[in-house]
Amino acid sequence: MLKIDGPRLWATLTEMAKIGATPKGGVRRLALTEEDRRGRELFATWCSEAGMTVRTDEVGNLFARRDGSNAKAKPVLIGSHLDTQPEGGRFDGVYGVLAALEVVRTLNDHGVVTEKPIEIVSWTNEEGARFTPAMLGSAVFVGATPLETALQTKDADGVTLREALNESGCAGTRGLGVENVDSYFEAHIEQGPILESHGNPIGVVTGGQAIRWLDVEVTGVAAHAGTTPMPYRKDALFASAAMALELEAIAQRFAPLGLVTIGQVDVPNSSRNTIAGRVAFTVDLRHPDDKKIDAMEHEVRTAFGKIAGDRGLEAAIATYWKSPATPFDSACVDLVEEAAEGFGYAYERIVSGAGHDAIHLARHVPTAMVFIPCVDGLSHNEAEDALPEDVTCGANVLINAVLARAVIGSTVDA
Ligand SMILES: [Zn+2]
Repeated sequence: MLKIDGPRLWATLTEMAKIGATPKGGVRRLALTEEDRRGRELFATWCSEAGMTVRTDEVGNLFARRDGSNAKAKPVLIGSHLDTQPEGGRFDGVYGVLAALEVVRTLNDHGVVTEKPIEIVSWTNEEGARFTPAMLGSAVFVGATPLETALQTKDADGVTLREALNESGCAGTRGLGVENVDSYFEAHIEQGPILESHGNPIGVVTGGQAIRWLDVEVTGVAAHAGTTPMPYRKDALFASAAMALELEAIAQRFAPLGLVTIGQVDVPNSSRNTIAGRVAFTVDLRHPDDKKIDAMEHEVRTAFGKIAGDRGLEAAIATYWKSPATPFDSACVDLVEEAAEGFGYAYERIVSGAGHDAIHLARHVPTAMVFIPCVDGLSHNEAEDALPEDVTCGANVLINAVLARAVIGSTVDA
């Protein structure tokens, strides 16, 4: 099995982290800003030095191609993103892009020619920190978001994506379209605590979880806090509190994969000495299985309806947004697992908690991801960190999974 050059990858990550470096050791490289442009330029230079052809598409996604022996074969894409959160870390996204570069450098070192071409991709505006929504470049690439819609998206200062692309010189003419792609592999830090707590350097990602957002509005009767005896009250806040605890109990019934969150609570016109007449709150449900998230939603609706009814209140529940579970391609997932096994690395199968460009790609082409642990499970934080040995393990798994898919055609003298 081929092994990547760990110290070289680490040095490359360290070099890239200097662009947009923050005093607390993090990185600020918002999409299509001067920092992002410099980061992309440095990456493109490295790709050219590795003998690759660099092109960008109309939404600024950056592709670097290493030809294969079969001119007609579609490329195996590997990548992630170089943009960061405003107070981001040195690994989120960057790791997947530079691990892909290390894959190509290693293939060059060993004179390996693959049958299928390999293309590294850095997707535009993955973070969603400057332009909303997140994962915009990959959404346009696969056709989930029309190009024109994306180009008209504005940042907080009213600058459109089109203007930012023109000003930074990051737009190009490579064709959009996932139909000319063989498969997609992405390495990423886990951004959570699971791998680290289990002592596993590798997460074999099986897919993205289903998400469901509900809006709940509980209506009771606002009344005087001092004159209304307890049995006469229709308190929307206490009813909402009962619903919150029931929601937590539902999560326990779907443990460990079911996740529930009440992220926003609004008590309109609240006052210290008035019983809450109306409460609105959000519910975020997640589960990797579409049938299970249906069952969770059903339990939520039934339980909330009963709590409201028992207290003589009304509860209106609306679905605000839903996204189905996105299982990755089982053959590609197996390639990642086989690579981890081949090295004897401890690993586990894991569901991606966060959104990734891979989720967009997975709806169109065979896709898989490799996770490595991040220290204390921290991400979207300047203190985000990863261990050099884990960084190496992840890239070793990546190169062998990619090679199995891209097929070694021949080797020539390096
Ligand atoms: Zn990321």
